[in-house]
Amino acid sequence: GEVAVEVDVVIIGGGPGGYSAAIRLGQLGKTVVLIEKDKLGGVCLNRGCIPSKALIHTAEKVDELHSLQDMGVDMSGERPKTDLKVWQEWKESITSKLSKGVHQLCDQHKGITIVKGEANFLSNNRIGVETGGDFEIYKFENAIIATGSRPIVPSFVGNPHPNILDSTSILALEDLPSSLTIVGGGYIGVEIGMALAKLGTVVTIIELSDSILPATAKTLSKEVMMRAKKIGMNIVTSAEVSKLTVSNDEVELNVSTKDGEQKIQSRKVLITVGRKPNTEDLGLNQLGIIVEDSGHIEVDEHCRTRQDNIFAIGDVTAGPALAHKASKEGKIAAEVISGLPSAMDTSLIPYVIFTDPQIAGVGMTEEEAKQKGYQIKKGKFPFSANGLALISKKPAGFAEVIVDADTHVLLGFHVVGSDASNLISEGTLALELGARVEDLALTIHPHPTLTEAWLEAAEAALGHAIHSV
Ligand code: FAD
Repeated sequence: GEVAVEVDVVIIGGGPGGYSAAIRLGQLGKTVVLIEKDKLGGVCLNRGCIPSKALIHTAEKVDELHSLQDMGVDMSGERPKTDLKVWQEWKESITSKLSKGVHQLCDQHKGITIVKGEANFLSNNRIGVETGGDFEIYKFENAIIATGSRPIVPSFVGNPHPNILDSTSILALEDLPSSLTIVGGGYIGVEIGMALAKLGTVVTIIELSDSILPATAKTLSKEVMMRAKKIGMNIVTSAEVSKLTVSNDEVELNVSTKDGEQKIQSRKVLITVGRKPNTEDLGLNQLGIIVEDSGHIEVDEHCRTRQDNIFAIGDVTAGPALAHKASKEGKIAAEVISGLPSAMDTSLIPYVIFTDPQIAGVGMTEEEAKQKGYQIKKGKFPFSANGLALISKKPAGFAEVIVDADTHVLLGFHVVGSDASNLISEGTLALELGARVEDLALTIHPHPTLTEAWLEAAEAALGHAIHSV
């Protein structure tokens, strides 16, 4: 038959899941072929986490200028304008540096070969790669599916049009749209919407549920809702788009709301209604691998599919579609393949939403703890009583801990406020170590920092907070 290159492990997809698995396997002495049809780093690095956080960073800097007036800085001169063409070059300089970094890390292991092309399974130990002209075949002991996900295109969207954007194309824009309607108020839509609003775009968000960020507790999302309104965003909730009409000048949406039918016009529309796993074109049917209706691949705690030697990690599996979940699963699959006793614990995956203010959480929410039968204590501290939050003019939000009332073991950390994305790791570490609320209260936190909010929340749970009642 055909000539096939033999290798220990093939990995399909070079996103945070796939490349982390490759490097871990390299460390463990395996030979690896990492197949990527586009750029190493995947969605996260090239068109997701990194580009969106770069946009948010720029918007925050512009927005913060407004607060200088109160501090005696004369802001009466010309306001800054953003040239998105220059911004794109800056963003590109970051993503290409990071993507090159991933290449270099892989090159440091002589067992790792990177192949550019599109892969699909021929059998449970052979994979074919279309490399643009050539067709290569690899024979493997184990395979890891890490093909990630893509934006869902709802049925009311017809043919592609430059005025109809998804998360990829909006992050590639070279001109700031004067107005934008965002269909879908999940974290991707709200993060990008808030950033563009701060840069001067008139933004409307249309959300099906009764609140934006519907997957997040309302006590947390409420802070973002208030801020969104303050920066002039128009938020329409309990609203469903039934029709989209696009011309070269504008987009019109027919929207059914509680108050009847509405027509909403804007220069462009951004569709962010969720993501779908890339599992259709891999030839999985023939392998006995179970793909759920949602498109997710069923795996066990070792990231193993129903086909013993084939693993799946990252956005193609159920659970939160987050980069750090993908990279953790990548390391687990690599270790399991190498005979190490690794397993995925999905209960301690932190999440972060880079809105203004930011939201982050890890462990159980109050509702989850109660559902599991815990008697709980809570401790909460508002940033309006934190010195550094006031100095940085970011007094919104609070930090909260959920504690098992019986044992005092910490169950969950939740925070909405400035820098929540960095604050949450203290909580993740505490939960990972099985800490009790006394451990947190005994830990000396430096002053003045936002981390003091955790100390105060712990003391509040114990009934002896110093700086709140
Ligand atoms: P991906 O990153 O999707 O990578 C899969 C790779 O596989 C791609 O490069 C693709 O080209 C390749 N591929 C697919 N099929 C084939 C094939 N047949 N052959 C060869 N190659 C193939 N997560 C966070 O944790 N924090 C954030 O702040 C964050 N922000 C985000 C913002 C946006 C706008 C978006 C869209 C996502 C964001 N995410 C964020 C989610 C994060 O990007 C994903 O969870 C993460 O990229 C998933 O990693 P992965 O390795 O599973 O797959």
